[in-house]
Amino acid sequence: MPNTAKHARICVVGAGAAGLSAAYFLKQRGYENVVVLEKNGRVGGLCCSITYKSRSFDLGANYLTPAYKEVLKIAKEVGAELYSEGPGQVYDPFASQPNKPVFKSIQETVMQGTDLFTYGGAIARFYWERSQLEAILSVPGFAGISLHPELTQPFSNWLAEKDLSCLSTLFELPITNMGYGDLNEIPTAYALKYMTIETFTTLVTYGAGLPLGWPKRFIDGFQRFWERVSWGLEVHFNVSIKSIKRGATINVHFLEQEQILDDFDTWEQNLEFDYLILACPLTLDVLQTFLDLSPTEKELFQKIELNPYSLTTYQIPNFSMGTPVTNVIPMNQEGNPWFISQQFLDNDLVAFYTRLPWEEDLIDWKNHASRSDRRDEVIKGIQATMQNIGVELDDQFYSYDEWPYFPHVTSEVMQSGFYDRLEALQGQRKTFYVGGLLNFELVETIVEYSKALVEKNF
Ligand SMILES: Cc1cc2nc3c(=O)[nH]c(=O)nc-3n(C[C@H](O)[C@H](O)[C@H](O)COP(=O)(O)OP(=O)(O)OC[C@H]3O[C@@H](n4cnc5c(N)ncnc54)[C@H](O)[C@@H]3O)c2cc1C
Repeated sequence: MPNTAKHARICVVGAGAAGLSAAYFLKQRGYENVVVLEKNGRVGGLCCSITYKSRSFDLGANYLTPAYKEVLKIAKEVGAELYSEGPGQVYDPFASQPNKPVFKSIQETVMQGTDLFTYGGAIARFYWERSQLEAILSVPGFAGISLHPELTQPFSNWLAEKDLSCLSTLFELPITNMGYGDLNEIPTAYALKYMTIETFTTLVTYGAGLPLGWPKRFIDGFQRFWERVSWGLEVHFNVSIKSIKRGATINVHFLEQEQILDDFDTWEQNLEFDYLILACPLTLDVLQTFLDLSPTEKELFQKIELNPYSLTTYQIPNFSMGTPVTNVIPMNQEGNPWFISQQFLDNDLVAFYTRLPWEEDLIDWKNHASRSDRRDEVIKGIQATMQNIGVELDDQFYSYDEWPYFPHVTSEVMQSGFYDRLEALQGQRKTFYVGGLLNFELVETIVEYSKALVEKNF
């Protein structure tokens, strides 16, 4: 397969981090006929940026750490510049009363219930334990992970087994606050894929309030980084794929909308390709609208779970949170903000990150009727939180977005060999799969996976 002719016609579905990085690496290897089909009118997917009062704000992905080797390399090439995030703090919703907010340092919070000696010893032991797993975890993807039951169990169990539970609050900052789930629900392999040695160092120093310059953000926002990447690629926007049929060749039937000045034109296209790379969400609700799914694809993709996450912004004049980043700990129940970001303290736009409930009647979370109910709950949670901080907010938020975040499987499904079967599907019916499900929902791990997949197969 690596000898695939350079003129092979390759269709990439989705212009998020996964699709654009796959197309970028294909181009780097000399492939000339790569077409990216994107449903929306912009690139980036969950990397979404806006400009407000002349500054760029991230409504999706925001941070990079020194572990982002591939992303940083591409950023240098396309000229996307970075700046360092400012300090963080913790807001305790349970200790707070109306107009008497309790803010703490991150260091005080993560060390609560432990002492410097125990905490320091646990940090040293984590470095050792994580380095022992490097050979397994540094390989892109999770093939063979079911042979390591210690890595498919929930992360809190792994921490307890290694006598590292005193680091739980520290790990909650990037994992639970950022919507990847409770430590007792996220499988260890995901948490440790995220917590590379370098990312852990960033976390520890950030938690200790040491200004080492990381994490960083793109000055123009994460979406604009991907826009720069996309300028060298053939991306079709506003595409509605009607069907993809895979036989000797891959037939893609789609409508494409184009705006030329005041005119909107819709083109119907039938294109033939030699390969297909699926870089859109791999959930059945998306794929079954256009793809001739095989029974194995159906069986695997119906096991995918999401942690829908919302981001709401409010304009709050004459207000400063004190620090750009505020983690809410202990976390309130779902529906309340767990992370608050005032990206620039001299700018009135404040962002609230809220994990949405996923189970029961809200499972149909894309349904518009339940969307407005959920949004009302999220707004109520933000209003209650800010009232305790001394700010009365009305219902006039500035933006509200819901993201189909963190495609993953449970510990049981991971242990049952899900990833071995998924990896075995790569290349069958000339189809490949990339994105957060394959290597964890972070831009760097997604880009690493796309690169490895292209190098192995093209
Ligand atoms: C609030 C938030 C904060 C985050 N913070 C960070 C962070 O700090 N650092 C970090 O590294 N990551 C972060 N992430 C995660 C990161 O954004 C994602 O892991 C990554 O962007 C996902 O990329 P993807 O290409 O796999 O998927 P997506 O971004 O979902 O891209 C899929 C693309 O497919 C398109 N598509 C869908 N259906 C179709 C169709 N039928 N036809 C054609 N196209 C279709 C979509 O429009 C989209 O453009 C964050 C995410 C969120 C939501």
